[in-house]
Amino acid sequence: MAEMRKKGKPYDPKQAEDRWFQTWLNAGYFEGDPHSDKKAYTIVIPPPNVTDILHLGHALNNTIQDILIRYHRMSGYEAEWLPGSDHAGIATQVIVEKQLAGEGITRRELGREKFLERVKAWAYHNKDIILGQLRKMGCSCDWNRTRFTLDENLSRAVTEVFLRLYKKGLIYRGSRIVNWCPLDQTSISDDEVEHMEIDSHLWYIRYKLKGSDEYMIVATTRPETMLGDTALAVNPTDTRFKKYVGKTVMLPILEREIPIVADNFVDPEFGTGVVKVTPAHDPNDFEIGRRHDLAQVNIMNLDGTLNENAGKYKGLDRFEGRKQLLKDLEAKGYLVKTEKYRLSVGVHDRCKTVVEPMLSEQWFVKMKPLAEPAIEALKSGKLRFHPDHWSKTYLHWMENIRDWCISRQLWWGHRIPVYYCQDCGEAIASATAPEKCPKCESTNILQEEDVLDTWFSSWLWPFSVFGWPEETDLLRKFYPTDVLVTASEIIFLWVARMVMAGYEFMGEIPFTDVYIHGTVRDANGVKMSKSLGNGIDPLEIIKQHGADALRISLILATPDGQDPWIGHNSFELGRNFNNKIWNAARFVIMNLGDDKINLDYLPKDRLILIDHWILSRMEKTIKAVNHAFDDFKLNTAAKLLYDFAWKDFCDWYIELIKARLSGSDTEDKRTAQHVSGYVLKRIILLLHPFIPFVTEEIYQQIDGGNGDGRRTITFGPWPAVEGDFEDDELENRLAHIQTLVNAIRNVRAEMNVPPGKRADVHVRIDDPQLGEILDEYFNYYKNLARIDNAIIGERVKKPPMSASAVLPGAEIFIPLEGLIDIDAERKRLGKELDNLKNQLEKLSRKLANPDYLANAPADVVSRDKVKKLDFEDRVEKLNKNLEQLMSW
Ligand SMILES: [Zn+2]
Ligand SMILES: [Zn+2]
Repeated sequence: MAEMRKKGKPYDPKQAEDRWFQTWLNAGYFEGDPHSDKKAYTIVIPPPNVTDILHLGHALNNTIQDILIRYHRMSGYEAEWLPGSDHAGIATQVIVEKQLAGEGITRRELGREKFLERVKAWAYHNKDIILGQLRKMGCSCDWNRTRFTLDENLSRAVTEVFLRLYKKGLIYRGSRIVNWCPLDQTSISDDEVEHMEIDSHLWYIRYKLKGSDEYMIVATTRPETMLGDTALAVNPTDTRFKKYVGKTVMLPILEREIPIVADNFVDPEFGTGVVKVTPAHDPNDFEIGRRHDLAQVNIMNLDGTLNENAGKYKGLDRFEGRKQLLKDLEAKGYLVKTEKYRLSVGVHDRCKTVVEPMLSEQWFVKMKPLAEPAIEALKSGKLRFHPDHWSKTYLHWMENIRDWCISRQLWWGHRIPVYYCQDCGEAIASATAPEKCPKCESTNILQEEDVLDTWFSSWLWPFSVFGWPEETDLLRKFYPTDVLVTASEIIFLWVARMVMAGYEFMGEIPFTDVYIHGTVRDANGVKMSKSLGNGIDPLEIIKQHGADALRISLILATPDGQDPWIGHNSFELGRNFNNKIWNAARFVIMNLGDDKINLDYLPKDRLILIDHWILSRMEKTIKAVNHAFDDFKLNTAAKLLYDFAWKDFCDWYIELIKARLSGSDTEDKRTAQHVSGYVLKRIILLLHPFIPFVTEEIYQQIDGGNGDGRRTITFGPWPAVEGDFEDDELENRLAHIQTLVNAIRNVRAEMNVPPGKRADVHVRIDDPQLGEILDEYFNYYKNLARIDNAIIGERVKKPPMSASAVLPGAEIFIPLEGLIDIDAERKRLGKELDNLKNQLEKLSRKLANPDYLANAPADVVSRDKVKKLDFEDRVEKLNKNLEQLMSW
């Protein structure tokens, strides 16, 4: 207490934040106790990739988690927030391969073992940086239990899961068309393919019937794949082509003879009604091929160049090959026509390379049986999404689920636990290398080269982190977890798969609630991204304003269920709020003096009206905040607290008790000290989940004893609603006074009245009752509004040279003569008006531009429209004020 009072220095987050975090860590406050009697509240962190240095999206994601976990810790739960990181197979390997390329070596030259050492060193170094950044933000994770997807325990879980699914027949190896990335030279899953619309062409190609002058025409968007055609297909009901079924055509250029088959898959209405069949390069053709026993001709190497099956085009890149082939087709008269065509192509989400559907041997998980309980969980309401509309996305994917290709042609990751006998070809799934082949007893055995998809370890995260497959105390206490907080991009890749794994291996859902938060956009509404360079470094913000400011600003800027728009100055909001709280606390504490006042009870019989009012506001706020937490509406909760702390407490209550605190009525002075201390303590508690550092610092001064953190705010308790004070009638009366004061302040600000000059106010009222209230509370507002006299009545007239404002049930006038320099004010307003009109015109032009309307994201346009309304409003107001000034 003495500390804060004597020095009177501004709050310095830099020294306070690191000091408090270390104190909390040393005391072990964040460690969940598996033997506690308290009910568990658990969150597992979405493990950041070791390639991802903290960005604002993570900052938002982790702030939300920390707020939820701190709120529950304060509310009496045994809170466990488990941190960790993901090895991020392909992303990490690619980075290290690039480093090697800079040194002029490839991973193959280095060899598997050496390469993995190299990746490991890099990954471990990076993950420590990333987790350190989360600590900087104040994340109250259980840092002694940090996990990594390649930890020994977690790797054991991966092997166990593979073997169990394999035994159950849910993992199989097969030749399938996979999405192949020729740049990274690995298969990728459907969910890693991003679809993009591009302008392309539809090429019509002529295939001659063998031994005839007749021909069939096929339209295609990937002409080079014709080099791998093994049939043409028509619909069996299509009367135009019935007579050709069973005959053969000659493949142009390569002059290979291929059959014409009839298959129901062919849509007679699409294109020419005849399709080419390339079983090795198209998933649908693959199926047709199987039905008709067609050959599979692969025309491509793994790097996307054409192979010997492509004849003279061998060695060319796939797109160069296309060009050459089209030239030749045209020259020889096979190309009938070329049409412009808008086409959706799949690209690899990480490197944006056009994905090539290619036939290859891969490992798959059969997903249908796993999806059933996961669908049921949603339908029965056991699993809930916030906001709810994401449940549709989840359900649609689950109900149309396809088998999951889990093998990756990489080195960095969990190597598939399957061994092949080099003599008889037997495949043996096993946790350790078998000594000999169970079939032929050969010892010539090699492990599968491929590793598992990264998500094959992260889908086990909610239980592997607690020691599964071991039946640990941690697992018993903290599984299932409570809520998963994540962004919408990984609902399929991660969230849905975790639900499936939870049911399959734990027999229970991994979490009951999924909180999907918005995507961070810059001040213009454009998504922040590395490639655009429009990101903001959260660590810069922490350096500048402190972690508390970063956290509360992010939450205040993120409307529930929407995307936040954030610019550099967005963080001033939080910084100013923290300073406001600090200054208010300092004032209250200074006035408490050295008197020992118990801030856990209230002197109820000595309270006066305004004390009742702030306590009523507080009870209402706590109730509403609790509701908001129940509904996962953290923005609503933050705003309620912001308004209560800033407006009700700082701007009103503290201002209104200043006279009491310096007055001579010692009993009333003590009551004012007591109530202000009582409310401050609760404000600090309520704000702690949002701004943990400054609240702990203040808490130590009012209730923490000697400031060494031995009594901490970490465990609350969260303020209870006592139910003694809620009084709507009283709040309504005070609301009238607030409206009046705000209106007077606005007029003063708009007209530039110096704060030192006191004014008079004339109030014309419609309702005499309102007049009574304004009379009764004059003493409450005269200083707040800097008013000497208030003339209130139903027949009040507008005095000369006065500014006015309308409020519900009343109109106010403030005579300005002698208060401002009217000439200077005319000039100032004129300038401001010009400026504003300019901006309005620019914005209107933008909104009238059809290109902009067609291409900008819908919410960007809608925010611009709101901005325009605001400009128009301000222009109108300024116009009015200026007209008034000109008329004097
Ligand atoms: Zn790629
Ligand atoms: Zn064998």
